[in-house]
Amino acid sequence: AKSEARGSFRFFEPEMDARLQARRLMERDLRDALAREAFEVYYQPIYSLGTERICGFEALLRWNHPGRGFVSPAEFIPIAEELGLIVPLGEWVLRRACEEASRWPDGLKIAVNVSAVQFTSASLVTAVRETLRATGLPGRRLELEITESVLVANPGATTAILHSLRAMGVRVSMDDFGTGYSSLSYLRSFPFDKIKIDQAFVRDLGATDGTDFIVRAVIGLGASLGMTTTAEGVETEAQLARLRAEGCDEVQGYLFSRPVPITQVPAVIQRWNGA
Ligand code: C2E
Ligand code: CA
Ligand code: CA
Ligand code: CA
Repeated sequence: AKSEARGSFRFFEPEMDARLQARRLMERDLRDALAREAFEVYYQPIYSLGTERICGFEALLRWNHPGRGFVSPAEFIPIAEELGLIVPLGEWVLRRACEEASRWPDGLKIAVNVSAVQFTSASLVTAVRETLRATGLPGRRLELEITESVLVANPGATTAILHSLRAMGVRVSMDDFGTGYSSLSYLRSFPFDKIKIDQAFVRDLGATDGTDFIVRAVIGLGASLGMTTTAEGVETEAQLARLRAEGCDEVQGYLFSRPVPITQVPAVIQRWNGA
C-alpha cells in the first residue's frame, strides 16, 4: 500500500506543478491589477416589491484580465484573501461604489460585499467612516453584505463591528443565506438587518415543494426577527410571482437586469423608476 501511495503521488506531481504555476501567475497579475486599478465595479439593481421601484444597487467587482478577459470574482477573491490583498481591494470597491452612489437619487442605496477577512480587519470601521465622510454618502444609504464565514472566523469581533456600523446608520445583510452550516443559530445571535436568500433556493422555486416551504419559512423567520428579506437570482416571472406571494421584501436578478457598468446605471434607473 505504501509504494502505491508513493506512486500515485508521483503521478500527480506534474499536474500540481501546473496548478501552482497558474496560481503564481494569478498572484502576480492580481498585485499588478491592484496597482494599476485594472478593476471595475458593476451594478445590479435591487427591486422593492413594496414600492414597485428600484431601491438600490449591489456593487459587484469585475476584473478584466489582459490575457483572459473577465475573470470571475468567485475565482480571484479567494486568492486575494490569501494574499492579504482583499483589504485594499475591498476598500477600493467600497470607495468607488460610495462615490458613485452619492450622485444617485437620494432614495437609492448601495450594497457592497465584504469578505470575512476584510470585515474583521482592524481597519473596516475606520474605512467605512472615512469613506462616508469623503464621499458625503449618508450611512443609511450603505449596506454591507457578509456571509456567515465572517461569523465562523471571528464571532467575538463581529458583534462589536456590527454595533459600530449600526451607530453610523449602515446596515448589514447576511448574504447567501441557507448555504452554510449554522445560519439559524447565527441569526439568533447577531443583529443583522437583512437576509439574502441564496439563488440556489430561488432557482428551485415552484419546481420542488420543499423549496417553496423553505423560502416561506425564511421570509417568516426574518420578519419575526425584525429582518427584511431579499431574494437573489430571480430569473423568471414565475419565481417573482411566488416571492411576491410569500411576502419577500426585495428581489434581484437577471429578470430585472444583469449587473451593468456605471455608464448604464442611469438608463436602468430610468427604465424602472421613470424620470
Ligand atoms: P454574490 O454576492 O452572491 O453575488 C451574486 C452573484 O449572482 C453575482 O455574481 C451576480 O452577477 C450573480 N447574479 C445576479 N443575478 C443573477 C441571476 O438572475 N442569475 C444568475 N445565475 N446569477 C445572477 P458575480 O458578480 O460573478 O459575483 C460572484 C461572487 O463574488 C459574489 O456572490 C460575491 O460573493 C463575490 N464578490 C463580487 N464582488 C465582490 C466584492 O467587491 N467583494 C467581495 N468580497 N466579494 C465580491
Ligand atoms: Ca452579495
Ligand atoms: Ca449572494
Ligand atoms: Ca454567492
